[in-house]
Amino acid sequence: MNEFEEYELETLAVRAGQVRTHENEHSEPIFPTSSFVFGSAAEAAARFAGTEPGNIYSRFTNPTVRIFEQRLAAMEGAESCVATASGMAAILATCMGLLKAGDHIVSSRSIFGTTTVLFTNYMGKFGVETSFVDLVDVAAWEAAIKPNTKLLFLETPSNPLTEIADIAALAKLAKQHGCLLAVDNCFCTPVLQRPLELGADIIIHSATKYLDGQGRCMGGAVLGKKDKVGTDVFGFLRTCGPTMSAFNAWVFLKGLETLHLRMKAHCDNALQLARWLEQQPAVARVYYPGLESHPQHALARQQQSGFGGILSFELKGGKDAGWKLVDATRMISITANLGDTKSTITHPATTTHGRLTPEQRAAAGIADGLIRISVGIEAIEDIKKDLARGM
Ligand SMILES: *Cc1c(COP(=O)(O)O)cnc(C)c1O
Repeated sequence: MNEFEEYELETLAVRAGQVRTHENEHSEPIFPTSSFVFGSAAEAAARFAGTEPGNIYSRFTNPTVRIFEQRLAAMEGAESCVATASGMAAILATCMGLLKAGDHIVSSRSIFGTTTVLFTNYMGKFGVETSFVDLVDVAAWEAAIKPNTKLLFLETPSNPLTEIADIAALAKLAKQHGCLLAVDNCFCTPVLQRPLELGADIIIHSATKYLDGQGRCMGGAVLGKKDKVGTDVFGFLRTCGPTMSAFNAWVFLKGLETLHLRMKAHCDNALQLARWLEQQPAVARVYYPGLESHPQHALARQQQSGFGGILSFELKGGKDAGWKLVDATRMISITANLGDTKSTITHPATTTHGRLTPEQRAAAGIADGLIRISVGIEAIEDIKKDLARGM
């Protein structure tokens, strides 16, 4: 990877990690094979002993997956990357590789719902306890840290209210207390935010979202230092097997090549849509870090190189107005997925946050009239027109 160190992110996205086979193919090769053949008994023994590098078995060594890992590592500025079967598998592999029974996690409260279930129900079952805190309140993070805290975990911007965590401040806190800071960088991707440069230790990706960006495949990744990720997280993957397939890795490689172009288009459309929504009489409030009215606009400007493609807004008419808006759309997809070239719309109070009690929803700031849009790259006027139908 060293030969790529001098290149810019846009170049890394297209070039990093590629190794041509003897066929001299131009595009990256796909290796749909479960195992690899050894030249001799001695070579097989050396590969298994780890004294000689090389492919063994696609649960943990596949050349196409390796190109994806090296390319994403170059883009995030990470020493190591481990690709996984999904974003959830990346978070599971991080916990299983780095934590043990009796350890404690401090996590921001407004994270991906399934991550909350993983921490509470599954890690909890194996004796790893999690405390949830307000993303933006650094003092609350500090107060929640205990002697057995090993991991701080966050997602920024948060979903759906786009609150911003101060990664550098929390990285400092993690260092002071001898724990690791993991950042789920799904919403920003390395194009908009590079958490390792801000002091984070681990980056999590759901490649299912923007890295693919076209809604085709499930995948994930963990990035960080060689000892933690390249050894401990990799060890879990090798043994327990939540592996990315070669085909999916190839699709993600093609996704990475255009990531910076797509992120720019997502950001441009989202900012224009946020500004337009602020003007609409039916809208009470717009949540988007690119708006001057966003309480952490300055932090977002400092920490991110763009404001992302996700926004939400609150309609004055509550749930009825929310459902009416969703049902009046003809183009925008009604789906909870995000990070796609296609715009998607959700009513969080009755879907992603529907299992919370009304009190819990109020505490989380999820109003009955809240709508979340993952802004796609269609013509902005068509997106506005589609939303205007139900307003
Ligand atoms: C979707 C998502 C995940 C989980 O990823 P999957 O690929 O669906 O398993 C994790 N974190 C965030 C922020 C997500 O949006």
